[in-house]
Amino acid sequence: MLERWRLEHSFELSTTLLVLFMISTTIGVVHTRMAAGMRRTFEARGISIGRSIGAVATPSLLSYNYPALQAAAEGAAADDGLDYVVIHDKEGVVAGIASGSGLEEMIPKSLSLGPREPSSHDVRFEGLRGQEVRVLEVVVPVLVEGVEEPWGVVRVGLSHAPMLAELRRLDFDLLVLGVMLAAAAVLAARVLARRITAPLRRLAEGTEAVSSGDLDHRIPVQGARELADLARAFNAMAERVRAKAREAAEFQKALEELNASLEQQVLERTLALRESEAQYKTLVEHSPDSILIVQDGRLRFVNPTFTETFGVEAEEATSGRFDLTTAFNTSSAALVRSRIAQWERGEPAAPVEVLGQDASGRQRCFELRGSRIEYQGRSAAECLLVDMTEARRLRERLAETEKLRALGELAGGVAHDFNNLLGAILGRTQLLRRRGFDPEVDRELSVIEKAALDGRETVRRIQEFSRVRRDRRFGPVDLAEVVKDAVEITRGRWKAEAEQRNVAIQVELDTAEAPPILGSAAELREVFTNLILNAVDAMPQGGRLRLRCRRQGDRVVAEVEDTGVGMTEEIRRHVFDPFFSTKGSRGMGLGMSVVYGIVTRHEGRIEVDTALGRGTRFRLDFPVAEELPAPVEPDGEQAAAPVRPGRILVIDDEPEVAAVVRDVLTLEGHEVDTAFRANDGIRMVSVSPYDLVLTDLGMPDMSGWEVAEKVADMRPGLPVALITGWGTSLDEDEARRRGIVAVVHKPFEVDELVRVAGAALSRSAAGGTG
Ligand code: ADP
Ligand code: MG
Repeated sequence: MLERWRLEHSFELSTTLLVLFMISTTIGVVHTRMAAGMRRTFEARGISIGRSIGAVATPSLLSYNYPALQAAAEGAAADDGLDYVVIHDKEGVVAGIASGSGLEEMIPKSLSLGPREPSSHDVRFEGLRGQEVRVLEVVVPVLVEGVEEPWGVVRVGLSHAPMLAELRRLDFDLLVLGVMLAAAAVLAARVLARRITAPLRRLAEGTEAVSSGDLDHRIPVQGARELADLARAFNAMAERVRAKAREAAEFQKALEELNASLEQQVLERTLALRESEAQYKTLVEHSPDSILIVQDGRLRFVNPTFTETFGVEAEEATSGRFDLTTAFNTSSAALVRSRIAQWERGEPAAPVEVLGQDASGRQRCFELRGSRIEYQGRSAAECLLVDMTEARRLRERLAETEKLRALGELAGGVAHDFNNLLGAILGRTQLLRRRGFDPEVDRELSVIEKAALDGRETVRRIQEFSRVRRDRRFGPVDLAEVVKDAVEITRGRWKAEAEQRNVAIQVELDTAEAPPILGSAAELREVFTNLILNAVDAMPQGGRLRLRCRRQGDRVVAEVEDTGVGMTEEIRRHVFDPFFSTKGSRGMGLGMSVVYGIVTRHEGRIEVDTALGRGTRFRLDFPVAEELPAPVEPDGEQAAAPVRPGRILVIDDEPEVAAVVRDVLTLEGHEVDTAFRANDGIRMVSVSPYDLVLTDLGMPDMSGWEVAEKVADMRPGLPVALITGWGTSLDEDEARRRGIVAVVHKPFEVDELVRVAGAALSRSAAGGTG
């Protein structure tokens, strides 16, 4: 504000001074010129007055007529504006003197006759009251024709006062004019200053505004060209600044956005990284397999599964003091070492199966696979230890099942053949004994009979093992009851016998209520009886036998556990094989086979958990019965009807068997024919009227079933009975449906055959196959 004021002020001041200077100079010049002009006019007037006086006075001068000259002087002096008139004669003497204002005494009288030309000069003298009187004195020589020398001189004193008054008036006018001019000039200067400084002020204001951030500030373009140019330039500059500022702002914004997006990206990447890290961590930490990194033969990393499996802390494992190969069997250690070294070197090597011990000392089977990786900038081996124990166990179990199935088929075939042989032996022996030999022979015969009967029991057990098909007579069975029964049945063995040997066998029975399963109580009793007896055998020094039964999901589980000698892996693998026994002549080796057969037939599973010296646990489980068929009535013994003799056809490809049957039935008073081929039998039926057909089931040219069908076609109502060596694997319900009236199992006892034949005959007599 101060600066702006100063600029304006100094401009006004300097302009004013300049104008004043010019005015005063002008006044000075005008005054001087006017004064000179007036003097000249005065002079000219004085000269002309002097000349006219001279002309008038010339005769008087020539005659020195002083009074005339005095009168001329006085006459002239009366003229207005003349201070005085002095007329000098040729010798310079005052010839006449007169003054309008009575100053005759004061007028200087001296005169030097000068040149012929008039002249003038200023004269000062003292007035009447002592004041200085200034006068312009014009000296005019009076010339007479023909005379060189002037004939006198006229001095005219012209007062300065009118001239000075005139000059004063002029000066006053000039002054007034000057003051007015000066005022106008100051005003103009002021306006001009305003006009010049206003745009400057606007410029300054604009600059201030722009600098303080108001970029939209513009200055009106007006006034002088330079100022307009300046304003335009300023506006252009402000525009540029605004554009730049906008650009800068946009750039700043873009930068901020970029920053934000970068931050977001970094955040996202970090999150993604963290997530993927977490994923990998989870993968590694929750892997069910052991994961390890080995570098220079040293463990560098192990996952939790490894530490849990081998019972070694991660720090300990990777400390360098831990030797990985100690976790493996000696047979596997070298292989583990060499494979890891190969992987570490980057050589491709196939996975290997190795054996090791877990933290609890159990044998485990692992698959070790690996590959080369880069770990902390150096080559290393990443290894995976997959626990294959369970898979291997399953594989082995599958193989075992397959083996047992094959064995079952084999045993089934053998049993069939044995049944035929035993059938002949038993039947023949019993027939012989009916003849009534003397006691000695009869005793021998009874030994044979007993042996045949024992053989029959053995074959039954083999068949029990090989029979895979489920019996249709299954009913609901309470497994807990079965277990309790088995304990009671075997009481003699684990109590009395043990006490005799002076050892104690402690039996613990722990049964919870469980839903029934579908099966045969008798067969299941045999299962548990066998298991208990084996357990007792395994505890010659006594011990504890624990039996448990409970529900587990949709299965009923039973366990028989002993604290006996346990089994080696080798024994365990053969435990279900028929005729496998470690008891020498004491054991038949069929108990566990029977157990296996029965359990399988019941759609159950059996598992063995055993360790040498630590005992054995058999775990069985069966499906809970879904639909409960009505409990089967045991076959009521048919009331022995009076047997009437009939015509019977016996068809069997085993001539020995056929002969025994024939002989037995003939003895009973029946009329018996035999056929050794099914086709022969059919033909005989077509020609002869029989009351009963007894046919073998498995024959080379035709099965017993087909025989029954053909007979039914030819002779509806003729009863057919089956004689089979296939044990109980024959489904008797189905047999009935197919029109079979009775089934006789080989090897049969004579009485049984007689009874069945009698019953069938009486049924046919009663009319129909039922
Ligand atoms: P056996 O009892 O006639 O020898 P088994 O089939 O019942 O035949 O058993 C077969 C073999 O299985 C036995 O000889 C025995 O070696 C083994 N075994 C079965 N049960 C046990 C058990 N509880 N403890 C130890 N070994 C057993
Ligand atoms: Mg046994």
